[in-house]
Amino acid sequence: MSNNEIIRIAIDGPAAAGKSTVAKLIADKLNYVYIDTGAMYRAFTLKVIEQNIELNDEERIKELLTHTKVSFKATDNGQIVYLDDVDVTKKIRTAEVSQSVSHLAQLGEVRKDLVVRQKKLAENHSVVMDGRDIGTTVLPDAEIKVFLIASVDERAERRHAENLKNGFSSHLEELKEEIRERDTRDETRKESPLVKAEDAVSIDTTSLEIEEVVEEIIKLVNNYQKK
Ligand code: C5P
Repeated sequence: MSNNEIIRIAIDGPAAAGKSTVAKLIADKLNYVYIDTGAMYRAFTLKVIEQNIELNDEERIKELLTHTKVSFKATDNGQIVYLDDVDVTKKIRTAEVSQSVSHLAQLGEVRKDLVVRQKKLAENHSVVMDGRDIGTTVLPDAEIKVFLIASVDERAERRHAENLKNGFSSHLEELKEEIRERDTRDETRKESPLVKAEDAVSIDTTSLEIEEVVEEIIKLVNNYQKK
């Protein structure tokens, strides 16, 4: 099999399991395009909040989506997320957005729209895409599927450290609660819930360094290419 073949890596898993950190590193190493689907749900949630629309007002939200643009730009300092051409990279990580996003992500109309956009973003080139339903719904025929897991305590501690590093105020116990609630909403929603794809490889990252997780996934890619 040639190394020029398009390879799509789907990385799913619960909140703060390290998906985006790992996905970015793999994309850099392999020179693939990185697509953070959570950032798309977050950016759209920010717009809904800013426009004072109720998170369950599916009609207005559906209408809002028709004139909402979410895009990414890769830079040396990481990925910039644009909402209608405005840089919202930091704003989408606030506690308010984190607490609201999984409510919005339950809406069928929102998922339908964003999934179409995500499929388009993955067309014609190799990608690393992370989210909750990538291996099951967005790229069900992805060449590599990974499901990352880690204990709630470990995930909350990692997110806590990340928040402090980024200058956000952060409370460990509140984070644990938020992560638990978000996982439950993501796992129990009707439309494409968070679930491991049957053919995904599970990696428990609780006691692994980021580099070790990256290596495991690169190994999967190398093995695939050898086939
Ligand atoms: O990945 P991140 O934690 O930024 O995602 C934020 C939220 O967006 C998730 O908790 C989930 O509710 C939603 N999401 C989703 N499907 C995806 C990516 C994210 O439902 N593919």
